[in-house]
Amino acid sequence: MGGGQVTDWQGRHVTVAGLGVSGIPAAKALHERGAIVTVVNDGDDARAREQAAGLEALGITVRLGDGATLPQGTELVVTAPGWKPDKPLFAAARAAGLEIWGDVELAWRLRGPDAAPWLAVTGTNGKTTTTQMLASILKAAGLRTAAVGNIGVSLLDAVLGEERYDVLAVELSSYQLHWAPSLRAHSAAVLNLAPDHLDWHGSMEAYAADKGRVYEGNRVACVYNVADKATEDLVREADVEEGCRAVGFTLGTPGPSQLGVVEGILVDRAFVEDRHKNAQELAEISDVDPPAPHNIANALAAAALARAFGVPAAAVRDGLRAFTPDAHRIAHVAEVDGVAYVDDSKATNTHAAEASLAAYESIVWIAGGLAKGAAFDELVVKSAKRLRGAVLIGADRALIREALARHAPEVPVVDLDRTDTGAMLQAVQEAKRLAAPGDTVLLAPACASMDMFTNYNKRGDAFAEAVRELGAGT
Ligand code: ADP
Repeated sequence: MGGGQVTDWQGRHVTVAGLGVSGIPAAKALHERGAIVTVVNDGDDARAREQAAGLEALGITVRLGDGATLPQGTELVVTAPGWKPDKPLFAAARAAGLEIWGDVELAWRLRGPDAAPWLAVTGTNGKTTTTQMLASILKAAGLRTAAVGNIGVSLLDAVLGEERYDVLAVELSSYQLHWAPSLRAHSAAVLNLAPDHLDWHGSMEAYAADKGRVYEGNRVACVYNVADKATEDLVREADVEEGCRAVGFTLGTPGPSQLGVVEGILVDRAFVEDRHKNAQELAEISDVDPPAPHNIANALAAAALARAFGVPAAAVRDGLRAFTPDAHRIAHVAEVDGVAYVDDSKATNTHAAEASLAAYESIVWIAGGLAKGAAFDELVVKSAKRLRGAVLIGADRALIREALARHAPEVPVVDLDRTDTGAMLQAVQEAKRLAAPGDTVLLAPACASMDMFTNYNKRGDAFAEAVRELGAGT
């Protein structure tokens, strides 16, 4: 089907893999355009049956309980992004020479002829924050835009909806990029690369290669992280449009074609006249919330993409000032007896926790949960000097305890062997006991939450609730 927009769907046999947030709208959109759609789904529970009934009422075929076999006559497969590439359905599709599209590819192909360009953001950590900062900056410049993709609004809705946009700020996950072979962004950023989701991708190389797809065919700028060479390597390997530039962001003084920081000011030496001599002030560090180093990096990446789109410097400042981070991302909960309590429950992997720990000087660290195969040695080595103490919770806490014993034996550790609802309150009480005035008690678990909580939001809420109880009791 080439790589362009597809307009004629009449009579095409399309198999949609997976009911759910992306599958249902995909099936409907294709059906409305005249395609003959079959939805296949592994599960066959009550919810799936209800969803299937809704689609069948429209004339869409749904096959529950068998997501493995390719329906006869399939000409194209459209998959939910989370489906693992090694599924038999895909092997059959590949053997038949068929294309496999994810939700992002479908949106890209269904967009209209005068569709808004995409500014794309990916990376292991910081995607949501950076995409929201970018949308805020674009809005401050008076542009019609939205933060879409792997956040809130789906790309399909953004592309097919009534609302008109000048430009979209698009967050993309590595899964989505894997299934988006013909996506061509105006400009894109890879914020950082650390091992994550390796069971899905198969290897670090495969994960990096999927992230790198975001740069393919960029027209104006490929934005990379100067401190993370792997992101620059991906730019070098990408096939981009003639004239597209590599633009770095750094927390240090920027060189030509970079954005960076000089004496507390975010400056641009990429999108200025005569970048060898000139620099443009964009904003102050204090305009970024929170002003932690990794978040300044996010702000610089967002600024680079906005500047690539031609946004004036003042809008970068106004957009950053207007931005407030989502909950559970370095959220200051309270100060009790001179100790700050900070909720970064969203730090669900070691790379995120490392960034979080780097933002404070003297920390009582609350960590633990599901490790997802991670090792904690590097994290502990890098953070040891900042640790006043540690309180460990959750299923895989022994891995963190052992890493602390190996690399920071002087740090006092409280190991909590309980997973009931009172566990977080006890963790916070223990942390309070270890902390001295001026310290920060930081929930940055470096682990997923599902062993003890429904999700990271609930874990953060439990922390905040415990801190409130602590405050009330003093
Ligand atoms: P994502 O959408 O990639 O999961 P978020 O913006 O939701 O990213 O941030 C998730 C967590 O990752 C934050 O709570 C913070 O701990 C950490 N984080 C954010 N930005 C960065 C960054 N640039 N580098 C490392 N860690 C980061």
